[in-house]
Amino acid sequence: MLGKMGLKPFLIYEIKELTHGEPDSPRIVSFKMRPVDGLRFDFVPGMFSSLFLKPDDKLFRSYSIASSPNEDHLEFMIEMINGKFTSQLANLKVGDEIYVSEPRGAFTYQLDSQHNDLFLAAGIGIAPFFSMLRFLKSGNLKRNIYLFYSIKHKEDIVNHSELQSYEELGLKLVYTVTRDPDDRNWNGERGRINMQMIKKHVESFSSSTVYLCGGIRFVKDIVGELESEGIEDGRIKRDIWGE
Ligand SMILES: Cc1cc2nc3c(=O)[nH]c(=O)nc-3n(C[C@H](O)[C@H](O)[C@H](O)COP(=O)(O)OP(=O)(O)OC[C@H]3O[C@@H](n4cnc5c(N)ncnc54)[C@H](O)[C@@H]3O)c2cc1C
Repeated sequence: MLGKMGLKPFLIYEIKELTHGEPDSPRIVSFKMRPVDGLRFDFVPGMFSSLFLKPDDKLFRSYSIASSPNEDHLEFMIEMINGKFTSQLANLKVGDEIYVSEPRGAFTYQLDSQHNDLFLAAGIGIAPFFSMLRFLKSGNLKRNIYLFYSIKHKEDIVNHSELQSYEELGLKLVYTVTRDPDDRNWNGERGRINMQMIKKHVESFSSSTVYLCGGIRFVKDIVGELESEGIEDGRIKRDIWGE
């Protein structure tokens, strides 16, 4: 049944699988769900939906879709921060129903790219990039993509082996930890993603499209640096969440 919540059309989904990122990232839970009556929304990788627990509920939150449009389920990767909504999501079980609004958003991947694309993700800002990479993989579409993924601790990396598997499509993966300055076993980057780090790994990015997803501070800081390198605003796509 296609319902309406205010102006937002929604569909009812049933939760089919809940995967906790343990032992690696216990705070991240992947919710996989299927539409109850088979109807489904089309979407483009990078879009988000709002989730509601009841159709008449005023409480809802937006989440990027992490699955590819050609998969038979929708997946959301959610950091359980014990806030107003996530504390309620934490009670959901397989078989429970959830309301999903029609996907929307302009943070969508441009398939025709001929250049080095930069994906810059902070924390759970990695979620929409999974949708993009899964979509590319499903069509064996090779692209020159650099993914810079910043996490507080190395244990926070979501689906490391899946991300590594995209290297065969041309993905170059750069992890950076922001909170483990003294970890001798870490041989990735350290500190927040910045221009110096990007230049170290990417030879030429002047014609790149940059996709940024994360908290407002992360996005603001890096956009300023990109603009001072001459990357026009029109080539910087951003998805900004909260603080
Ligand atoms: C377009 C869009 C897409 C989003 N996609 C995702 C997604 O794929 N996965 C996901 O986990 N979240 C995503 N979010 C964030 C999500 O909508 C909620 O804000 C988040 O789940 C917290 O909701 P809450 O009610 O539990 O916390 P609240 O009670 O609303 O907020 C508590 C506080 O936590 C802050 N906060 C929000 N998220 C985080 C975080 N990850 N870490 C630390 N503090 C945080 C808020 O800014 C607020 O100050 C997205 C937001 C937007 C706008």
